[in-house]
Amino acid sequence: MKKTINIYQKKDILDMEYKNNSENNVFFSKLPPLSLYIHIPWCMSKCPYCDFNSHSIKNINSIPEEEYINALKIEIEQSLPLVWGRKIISVYIGGGTPSLLKASSIDKILELIRTFFNLNSQVEVTIEINPGTVDSSKIKDYVISGVNRISIGIQSFNNNKLEILGRIHNKSDAIKTIQTAQSLINNINIDIMFGLPGQNIKDCLIDMNEPILSEVNHISMYNLTIEKNTLFARNTPKNLPDEDDNATMQDIIEETLFDKNIIRYEVSAYSKHGFQSVHNKNYWTFGDYLGIGPGAHSKISFQDHIIRIKRIYNPNLWIKTTMQNERKSSNKKILQTNEIPFEFMLNALRLKNGVKRSLFQERTGLFINIINKQLKIAYEKKLLEKNYTDIKATDLGWRFLNNLQEIFL
Ligand code: SF4
Repeated sequence: MKKTINIYQKKDILDMEYKNNSENNVFFSKLPPLSLYIHIPWCMSKCPYCDFNSHSIKNINSIPEEEYINALKIEIEQSLPLVWGRKIISVYIGGGTPSLLKASSIDKILELIRTFFNLNSQVEVTIEINPGTVDSSKIKDYVISGVNRISIGIQSFNNNKLEILGRIHNKSDAIKTIQTAQSLINNINIDIMFGLPGQNIKDCLIDMNEPILSEVNHISMYNLTIEKNTLFARNTPKNLPDEDDNATMQDIIEETLFDKNIIRYEVSAYSKHGFQSVHNKNYWTFGDYLGIGPGAHSKISFQDHIIRIKRIYNPNLWIKTTMQNERKSSNKKILQTNEIPFEFMLNALRLKNGVKRSLFQERTGLFINIINKQLKIAYEKKLLEKNYTDIKATDLGWRFLNNLQEIFL
């Protein structure tokens, strides 16, 4: 017989929810959507601007693929109790350069994922590939294994800029890889960078007017930044565009892509209708994610708290520790209540259309009145739209996003 809850019991539950929240305790009546990230840490060579956990290899045969997959399996098994019974809405195999692995290895990884996790029937499965590391048969094999979205690291269509960026491909490799991928799958992202050494507004416009761009459904457009511990940080190119030029390039990019029906929906993301990235959107809307592999991060919500996990960074040490079945391969911490609102806002404000106000409580487990003071400051500074249904940056807030985000720190 179906168990019913009477009105008094309902009131008790609501009182309890209110008590939990009024004491600033996290309380979720429903857990956020869950994504899965798998990290592959090797590249042919290290690009001078890159601060990702990626390591150059001597030759493609030196990647310990079998050992790595065994370690991934152990870490997946160890992580299962954290997400038991929950549905995965997206899988992302990123790096590094995942396409350096054999297609059969990617197949084994996806088989592991299907064996251990409960995947949503519409699950988005993305793999990152780089020109120069794939051919048509490899991409075809990915699709047969269940990949339904491909992200290609293009960065520029200018051979001189590609050389400065230390990429192993040239313009014609880039175009060929995009066309090959498009002949096999329609959900494709390409990564492009701007603000490159020696790049002027005209160069940027030429890159943006590449006819191939109009055929792509999703573009991630990154402004080159000089990150610590990179070759560019030690030896910074002298001819980087200044802040004004970067801002002009950003405007040109947005306008040019708009004319091709590729609309900006996040700080760095542009897409045609129906092709926004499910995986990245889950990060920006403060969803949960389980990260597997060296250096991978996780954020997992439970009924009354949120945890963060960071895996051992060094790939060899990660393999060794995981293979010894030691749970020391990661470090876990509970997010403090006062850290959660900033983390939510940091992500949500990146979305051009913002988010519904109700999403704050849904994804943080806290009442929105916890940030009333900060919202008031943001309204007064005209950085946030005074809107009772959405949390959305104004045009000014969007341009000075760091200032807006800092209010919630
Ligand atoms: S290919 Fe990508 S991940 Fe690898 S070094 Fe270059 S930027 Fe980093």
